[in-house]
Amino acid sequence: MSASRRYLVPLPYFHSPLFTLHSAVKNMEIRAVNLTKVYKKKDSPDIEVLKDINLDIKSGEKISFTGPSGAGKSTLIHTLGLMDRPTSGQVFIDGKDCYKSDDNYLCKMRKDNIGFVFQFHYLLADFTVLENILLPVWEEKDKKMSYAEEILAKVGLSHRKNHFPNELSGGEQQRAALARALINKPKIIFADEPTGNLDRQTGLEIENLLFSVSNDAKSTLILVTHNQELAQKADRQIKMIDGKIKTAEV
Ligand code: ADP
Ligand code: MG
Repeated sequence: MSASRRYLVPLPYFHSPLFTLHSAVKNMEIRAVNLTKVYKKKDSPDIEVLKDINLDIKSGEKISFTGPSGAGKSTLIHTLGLMDRPTSGQVFIDGKDCYKSDDNYLCKMRKDNIGFVFQFHYLLADFTVLENILLPVWEEKDKKMSYAEEILAKVGLSHRKNHFPNELSGGEQQRAALARALINKPKIIFADEPTGNLDRQTGLEIENLLFSVSNDAKSTLILVTHNQELAQKADRQIKMIDGKIKTAEV
């Protein structure tokens, strides 16, 4: 790999939610208190996306969010995942009122504790699968190499480690994205419609993988999905409608 590639890409990446480092945190319970998110635009009515959300998520719990498009699911999990400041309200993680702190703290909390998988893989095209997985830990990539290989084996991609993202199928790209989210052993995994771009069978494989890796690592899993079957695999299902949550019986 050229020096310019080594230098240019990882730096902005360190500030992304995907850049995570493992650390010992005692209590990973997430608590949302009176969360609101309002978009204001001149000469337009306010858009209330989150309306007074209160929620407790225990360490290791698996939660699914379902609900119609536009209900606020992505906004909520981005807010819970410390990527998007609420208009008002609080998010406590590890007992700390996170949004009282500055962006450096939010970035560090994400780096230390949180992994994200999105509907789109966001793999970098000029990097191999193995390099993509190592990006969040680029500064110590040699030390992390054997763990990256271990995760690659877990997601069934060992044989594709030297391939570039555009040489992979949609399902393989999403496996690589999941592996990248796991490189720092996050205690909380957020997945926002991770199978939304995949066919049913491939989607099912990714879903099973998500549950098995989070079970193995005892991570919290917070999943947004349109798939009812998948939603029902969670310990708790939450339905969102029009910016509010409605908890369903499991
Ligand atoms: P979901 O994930 O449930 O489909 P989202 O959280 O993506 O819903 O969006 C919820 C609502 O917030 C939508 O009506 C969307 O149009 C609105 N929204 C999201 N971002 C903005 C923004 N920057 N400005 C105005 N409205 C926004
Ligand atoms: Mg969404």
